[in-house]
Amino acid sequence: MFIYKNKKDLREYLDKFAPQKSLGFVPTMGALHEGHKKLIERAVAENDLAICSIFVNPTQFNDPKDYDKYPQSLDKDIEFIYNSGIQVVFAPSVNEMYPDGSKLAVRYDLGTLETVLEGAFRPGHFQGVCQVVENLLSIVKPNKLYMGEKDFQQIAVIQKLIAIKNIPCQLIPCPTIREKSGLAKSSRNERLSEEGKQKAAKIFENLTLIKNKLDESAFLDLKKIAIGQLRKEQIETEYLELIMAEDLQKTDAYIKEKAQRLIIAAYLEGVRLIDNIAI
Ligand code: AMP
Repeated sequence: MFIYKNKKDLREYLDKFAPQKSLGFVPTMGALHEGHKKLIERAVAENDLAICSIFVNPTQFNDPKDYDKYPQSLDKDIEFIYNSGIQVVFAPSVNEMYPDGSKLAVRYDLGTLETVLEGAFRPGHFQGVCQVVENLLSIVKPNKLYMGEKDFQQIAVIQKLIAIKNIPCQLIPCPTIREKSGLAKSSRNERLSEEGKQKAAKIFENLTLIKNKLDESAFLDLKKIAIGQLRKEQIETEYLELIMAEDLQKTDAYIKEKAQRLIIAAYLEGVRLIDNIAI
């Protein structure tokens, strides 16, 4: 495994060893867990060469306190993925990624994708995500980009980025990896107490309950019950929506023939957790 901290050295390596090869790329913010590992293993299995980046991107945190609290553990991360088959890790500093400062020069036109759900509660978040992903894609130049459905809206945003910037790269959405309890694996789970981790499993449980009852009950009634159930566990729901998978627009109507998704953001023990499931 090669670990690069600077883009020039990384590019030299890739130009020398990967010009004719298919290259799979997994961008991450570190604090790696089984969810990340599955993406990495898939990138390894489906490409001649796989590369993973570890970079906690300051520009996608609308709340600076959230950035300060984000877990960082490069040595542990490298150890965790050492046997995954990944050939290259790119772990740049903030200065390496943004030598001219991280202020956005241009805005990405993400349309309504930026104003719903995460976009509504985290202003500027997806601009920062696009900034770092465009930057990383221009350095790595992968054929395939692997991202998790846990961040469902992020996938839609990056699809849009790839389309508007005409980037020759295929995005491969990968399923959400969960704890046995159903809790979606997340770097943020590290900040939960053991009791909190058990409580947090109620998020997936309630999404599944809504899904199983949509045939017989109205979504808005089910939503109200779920928010109440979560509150009993000290989980405060920020949003819980039924959306059309195609354009992420909210709806109150369950439409059997269309791909829909239940999507949630909620706070527990001061930690913001997100999840979603297919309907
Ligand atoms: P992050 O480090 O949280 O920015 O995530 C890096 C990538 O891993 C993103 O594409 C995430 O969607 C993906 N990811 C994070 N958690 C999971 C999970 N539990 N299952 C699948 N993919 C995940």
